[in-house]
Amino acid sequence: MVYQQITRALPAFLMSSVLGCASSAAVDSSGAGDVVSSTLPPSVAPASELDWRKLPAPDHTLAHFRPGEVGDYCFDRAAQPYTAVVDSHFHPKPFGGPAMDAQHLWETFDRLGVRFINYFGIGQVLQLDANCAYYLDCPGVSATPSIKNDFVNGLELAAHDPDKVHITLSMTFIDLAQAENAVEMIQLYDREFPGMFSWSGELNIMKQALLGNNAEPATIESIDTWAPFMAVFRERGIPVTLHSDLGNNANPTEFLHLMDYVLERYPDNKIVWAHMGLSKELTTMSPAQHVRLMGERLDAYPNLYLDISWDVIYNSYHRWGEIFVPFFNAYSTRILPGTDFVAADYKTWEDYARELEVTSRALRVLEDDAFRNIALGQNYFELMEIPYEAPALCSVDEPSR
Ligand SMILES: [Zn+2]
Repeated sequence: MVYQQITRALPAFLMSSVLGCASSAAVDSSGAGDVVSSTLPPSVAPASELDWRKLPAPDHTLAHFRPGEVGDYCFDRAAQPYTAVVDSHFHPKPFGGPAMDAQHLWETFDRLGVRFINYFGIGQVLQLDANCAYYLDCPGVSATPSIKNDFVNGLELAAHDPDKVHITLSMTFIDLAQAENAVEMIQLYDREFPGMFSWSGELNIMKQALLGNNAEPATIESIDTWAPFMAVFRERGIPVTLHSDLGNNANPTEFLHLMDYVLERYPDNKIVWAHMGLSKELTTMSPAQHVRLMGERLDAYPNLYLDISWDVIYNSYHRWGEIFVPFFNAYSTRILPGTDFVAADYKTWEDYARELEVTSRALRVLEDDAFRNIALGQNYFELMEIPYEAPALCSVDEPSR
């Protein structure tokens, strides 16, 4: 896939529907780049009118994703929500302090049609005695990778196996700057939770936002020491989600060499690059340069995937739909959706519904194939090698990839 092929302009109505902004308090409402709504065809609502409360109720269950179990079902994009059925980046426990109730979360997923969820721990649990729920609120409080969240998630799932959603447990304990004992710890997980953890991450290579909490970024030297645990992941087909900031507004590619080294060193590992390398520190990078860098790496490394989670990304880049949407269509087999929601107990299910809607906005204007691959989970199922399949779309004769 060459970059030039994907930079063709979108029809004006697609651009405007991606470019617009919601009025929700959590979402940027600068209005930058908005196209006047009079240019929209009547069937496409402008983004300024989008609201999770207006979404239709989903008509599917988990069974609709198991081939052959429910006959004659097709997913009708016109009548169903455009929000993703997969949340590949979800944190059920906060950085510290109490979490949302597990049963309530599962009911929330079911109600919103989110059927497949990755349960990420927090790769940077705050010192317990600080009782702090968000790291940026507590500068100086140390944040270190830990087994704590993973174990709680494992126990919760084992005790109350939900039947309406599919949860994937993830190992988040690995400290990428000090990874020497990682394989030993995986063996501990194998003993305590046999066969239950089939993902890893998100693990932090370089997360600038955490530097105020004494987090130690990975280095070229420490990346070399990952070899034993990366070999275990390779053998087991375990994907690893890596948070690796591309850079910052002063130097947009300051840390790109770290991810490049990981890709070069471990090309046979399934690697998911969280947030496409974007962050709160990098909000002004040229979107054309960004998708070019991503496209080059997707072309060079067939086991690389991108996660498009986090409303921060939407807030910074929604106005560049004419660049990002064609990129997502062109690389639709390599993109995973997610919210990056952190389920602290002061949040409500409505907060999750809002973040799901905002982080799914690009999905509603994708081409049909891309929508099925990304939003309906086909990429996720193939990456995970689990016996599920995205349903066919009602308007399409045969699903094609
Ligand atoms: Zn995250």
